[in-house]
Amino acid sequence: MLFGSSGIRGLANREITPQLALNVGLAVGSQHESAVIGRDPRTSGEMIEHAIISGLLSAGCSVTRVGMVATPTLAFAARDYDCGVMVTASHNPPEYGGIKLWNRDGMAFDTKQQDEIESIIKKGSWKIAEWNSIGRVNETSCAVEEHAEMIIGKVGSGSLKVVVDCGCGAASTITPYVLRRMGCNVITLNSQPDGFFPARNPEPVEKNLELLKKATVAFGAELGIAHDGDADRMMAVDGLGRFVEGDKLLAIFGLREAKKSIVVPVDTSIMVDDVLKGRKVYRTRVGDVYVAEELKKRNADFGGEPSGSWIFPGISLCPDGIYAAARLVEIVEKEGKLDTLVDELPSYPMIRGSVPCSNDKKENAMRKIGVELRKMGDVSSIDGIRVDTGNGWILVRPSGTEPKIRITAEAREGVDELYAKGEHIVKEAL
Ligand code: MG
Repeated sequence: MLFGSSGIRGLANREITPQLALNVGLAVGSQHESAVIGRDPRTSGEMIEHAIISGLLSAGCSVTRVGMVATPTLAFAARDYDCGVMVTASHNPPEYGGIKLWNRDGMAFDTKQQDEIESIIKKGSWKIAEWNSIGRVNETSCAVEEHAEMIIGKVGSGSLKVVVDCGCGAASTITPYVLRRMGCNVITLNSQPDGFFPARNPEPVEKNLELLKKATVAFGAELGIAHDGDADRMMAVDGLGRFVEGDKLLAIFGLREAKKSIVVPVDTSIMVDDVLKGRKVYRTRVGDVYVAEELKKRNADFGGEPSGSWIFPGISLCPDGIYAAARLVEIVEKEGKLDTLVDELPSYPMIRGSVPCSNDKKENAMRKIGVELRKMGDVSSIDGIRVDTGNGWILVRPSGTEPKIRITAEAREGVDELYAKGEHIVKEAL
């Protein structure tokens, strides 16, 4: 299978080769008349971009290049074309490469569209244009400015001191600029794009953000902002140098964005449900694409993942880490310190663990586990099996990549017992 849950991704020049990229370009170009293409700063970016462009042109599709940009910038630019193509491996380590395809409304290609592309590649049934209808290439340098203008037009002005850690990724081209234009005093960290990602791993998880935590305190800043490699994700550090958990950030945005409804993945804390009482909380499979699809289907007000993907449907269906950063600054500017906003939210203990299980035994085990879990409460099988016990929940999910069954439990009280019960059920089923 070519497409995973986040587009096409793999080791650069081993799995993600120019040959593969050429075929993707041919297939996409067979179905679209125009495409806009961008890339993150990875070392493989230009190689893959050129191969895709060749394929698009050969199929008769016209191409506009926007250069090195953040994924949300590319997805926003796609509104003026038939589709968007982003060369990125998001938060993966530097040796990875990838390709993600976008619709005009900022929604990533869905499963059906991905299957069509895959089928054309498999059959080699792409279009080959006649000599006089081969596509042409345009270049524009306006994409970043247009995206920035849109964001600045939506948020108020700011005056906070903010440390921005772009992780040497694509955010370097836009986030510090947007926040400065808002009026903030911006101190940049790792904001020179570099495909070797020398400063830190591109994933914005706490263990990769020690420098940001220290810098936020040392400079006396009100908050710190961190992005992944292509800036569709954003995470934050408060003025005390504390990493803000994704569930807390989700509640902070949800409280202000979701008038009636919100979409979150199945493993989101029930703190979010408690805080957003009165609003409908829809749960989906883990993955920002699933959150975006459900958001569109339900016409919900906001969608987010604790991993740092925030979707504001009034802007785009693509998670936008830059807009999220600007919006967070606006919230802190108007409502007070980020640490206070975080501390106002309740915290429930959550335990994440796993039990080893070989891949061939997973299916059978999950069937037995399902029978037992159904005895404990209301069950949902959107992604693995999740039981709502009234006071908490337990999620049992086979790992997609490792020989493990993962167990997550959260409860307002008694989480240890709940987790132990889940672990017992899983072990009994093996
Ligand atoms: Mg990303």
